[in-house]
Order: sequence, then structure tokens, then C-alpha cells
Amino acid sequence: MQFALSEEHRAFRDMVQRFVAAEMPKDWARELERKEDEYPFELWDKFTEGGFHGLGIPEEYGGIGGDVMMQVIAARALSRTLSGLAWLWGITQFAGAKSLTLHGTEEQKRRFLPDIASGKLRASISLTEPGGGTDVLGAMRTMATPTANGWMIQGEKIWSSQSHVADYLLVLARSDKSVAKNHHGLTLFWVPAKSPGITITPLKKLGMRAMGSCSIHFNEVEVGHDAVLGTPGTGWQMILPMLNNERLLMSAFCLGYIDGVLEDALDYAKQRKAFGKVIGQFQAIQHFIANIKMAQYSVECMLMDCASKSASGQETLLESTILKVISAEESNRCADLGIQILGGMGYSADTDMQRYWRDSRLQRIGPITDEMARNLIAEQLGLPRSF
Ligand SMILES: Cc1cc2nc3c(=O)[nH]c(=O)nc-3n(C[C@H](O)[C@H](O)[C@H](O)COP(=O)(O)OP(=O)(O)OC[C@H]3O[C@@H](n4cnc5c(N)ncnc54)[C@H](O)[C@@H]3O)c2cc1C
Repeated sequence: MQFALSEEHRAFRDMVQRFVAAEMPKDWARELERKEDEYPFELWDKFTEGGFHGLGIPEEYGGIGGDVMMQVIAARALSRTLSGLAWLWGITQFAGAKSLTLHGTEEQKRRFLPDIASGKLRASISLTEPGGGTDVLGAMRTMATPTANGWMIQGEKIWSSQSHVADYLLVLARSDKSVAKNHHGLTLFWVPAKSPGITITPLKKLGMRAMGSCSIHFNEVEVGHDAVLGTPGTGWQMILPMLNNERLLMSAFCLGYIDGVLEDALDYAKQRKAFGKVIGQFQAIQHFIANIKMAQYSVECMLMDCASKSASGQETLLESTILKVISAEESNRCADLGIQILGGMGYSADTDMQRYWRDSRLQRIGPITDEMARNLIAEQLGLPRSF
């Protein structure tokens, strides 16, 4: 495997890195993250100012275009300082821009994509239900029933991130119970978040506090036919390529967490003293830092390989699932080492290690747990399905 960024991708990376360094420093992100009841609209506006919302959206719909490589380059650069708050941008990227670009009608694209590109429209995604996220299809109780003018949605979702401030919710619901297999008979809806009958409640959580992840109650929510994305009954087949993209995006965020951890660990190791020496002179600390660097290099190689294959149209479900597990586990291990290197200051809310640790911890659970990802990898190797 040999991978080199094109000149265009290198120029884009340099531009994004400069913007992030100037406009989105770590200490600002730290302050925003800790205000758990205040969604950071000012950060959303910075994404707009930097043109990030237009990424992946074709120019004819008001975007700046760009392939998966550009998406992962931006994701890595953003999460280096923002850590998990980079998901504020990432969720609308794949729940809004990706879903509509892939599955929207011409009318839906013309109506919504320009608003996403200009930062006027925020989206969230609601797949997971209180009965379980790993067995998302088995646990799904949210029903969509045809009405004279469209559909009526009834049910409950959980953990839907930034839905309390979203304009539209991408919702997967069962529209047909009489199917032989539970991945059939599902429909994807693009639901106005302020529709009558929708109640959204933010939940308390460990990390990405300012972003808000919510439970959503749908009580006889009426939507028109134009709220359906793609063909009714094929929602699961439509969502699969988006989940693959989400794994790449998540892994790029994890690599950004590792970048942030390495920077802070090195800075601290070079200036903190013990026994009359800088702690970076101790072999134990050097090994911790070497481990972080090794993780950074291996995740980077895998991410670049997987993203470039995906950008050239190759199927990467196996690779992106492997990458998902390794990047989540490695970033969390690196953040843990980072805390160890900083000692007590690693546990302090006034440094960023704890933020990287909390945010990377989530990626071992969502968007898919490491255990379920391993099940899928084993299955792709020809072993019988274990669940
Ligand atoms: C902060 C946060 C933000 C989130 N944001 C969103 C969002 O925006 N939209 C959305 O739809 N969802 C979101 N999620 C949900 C996330 O995708 C789920 O939490 C995840 O899929 C796991 O589901 P679960 O929590 O129900 O765990 P469960 O499915 O209950 O799993 C519990 C444990 O059992 C294990 N397990 C289950 N089945 C198997 C099996 N067959 N083999 C081995 N082990 C198994 C799991 O690996 C896990 O360890 C978010 C979650 C969190 C915590």
C-alpha cells in the first residue's frame, strides 16, 4: 500500500488546518463543551464561515463538491482541536448532505441542499430506539402508517444527537409489518423537527455535553408524501451506504483525537519536571508517547487506504468496519495514555486530555459497538452469523 495526497487534497488540508488553528482553538472548544445546556451555535456559525457545510454537496445545489477524501481530511483537522464537538458538523454532513445527495428526489435536493450548504439547515439522525441500538431492526417499534395525505409516525427514539436544535430529523420507521425479514418494510423519513406531536428531550451524558443527545417521542406525527426519502419499504438498503460513510467519518475524527493527544502529551513531557529532569526523559513516558505515535501512524495508513478506495468507488464495508474498531480503540487508548502522561493535570477539566478520553470512549459504543463490528468482520470471513 502506498498512498499520497493529490496536490488539490494537500492544498485543502493546509487551508483547513490554518482555519482550525486560527478560529477553533482547543481552549475555546473546552469552554463550549462544558456548558452542557447550551448548544454552541457560535461553533456552528464557524463551520458556516469556513464553508464546511457545503462539503460533499454538488456545486449545482450550492455546495463546494468534494469527495470522501476531502471529508476525512476536514474531519481529522476539526477533531484535533474540537474533539467530539466536530460531530456538530459531521451529523448534518451524513444525515443531511449525504442522505439527500444519495437518495433525494430532484425537488428535495433543490429545496434542502442549498440550505444545508449555507448552514441554514441542521439535521439529526434517529435510528436507535430505547429497546436497543445493536439489534436496531429487532428493537424497532416506531411505526409509520399510511394516511390520506401521507404518513403518521408513532414511536420513540433515543440518543438522537443535536435533534433538539435540528430543523429536520432523518428517521427510520417500520412501514410494513407483514415482511418475512426485518430489514424489509422500513422507510426513511425527512421529518420537520418542529412538527406537532414531536417531543425532544436532551439526556445527560459523559462527553460532547454541549452537543445534546436526545430522546424523541413521536405522537401521531403527520407528514406528507414529500417527507419520504427514496422508495418506501427500502429504508434499510438506503441507509447502509450512509453507515459505511459514517464509519469513515468517525475514524477520521478518532485520528484527529490522536493528533490532539500527541501534541498535548509531547508539549507536557517537554516542560514538566520531576527529579530535576523533564519527564520526557523517563523511558516510561517515552514509551507512552511512542505508543501514541505508532497508533497515529497505523490509523492514518488505514484511513487513507480506505478513504481513497471509497473515493474511487470501491466497496469498503469490510475495511471501514475494521478501521472503525481499530481507530476507536486506539484513540481511546491514546487518550488514556495522555492522561497518564499529564498525571493529575490529565484529569483536570482545564486541560483537553479528559475531553479526548470522554469523546473517544463513545466511539467504542457508537455508531456501532466494537463487539457488533467484530461480529460483522467474522461473518465476512465466512463464519456463521453469531447473532
Ligand atoms: C452519546 C451518544 C450519541 C448517539 N448518537 C446517536 C444518533 O445521533 N443517532 C442514533 O440513531 N443513535 C445514536 N446513538 C446510539 C448508538 O448508536 C447506540 O448506543 C449503539 O448502537 C449501541 O446500542 P445500545 O446503546 O442500545 O446498546 P445495546 O445494543 O443494548 O448493547 C449493549 C451491549 O451488548 C453488546 N451486544 C449486543 N448485541 C451483541 C451481539 N450480537 N454480539 C456481541 N455483543 C452484543 C453490545 O456490543 C454492548 O456491549 C448515540 C449513542 C450515544 C451514547
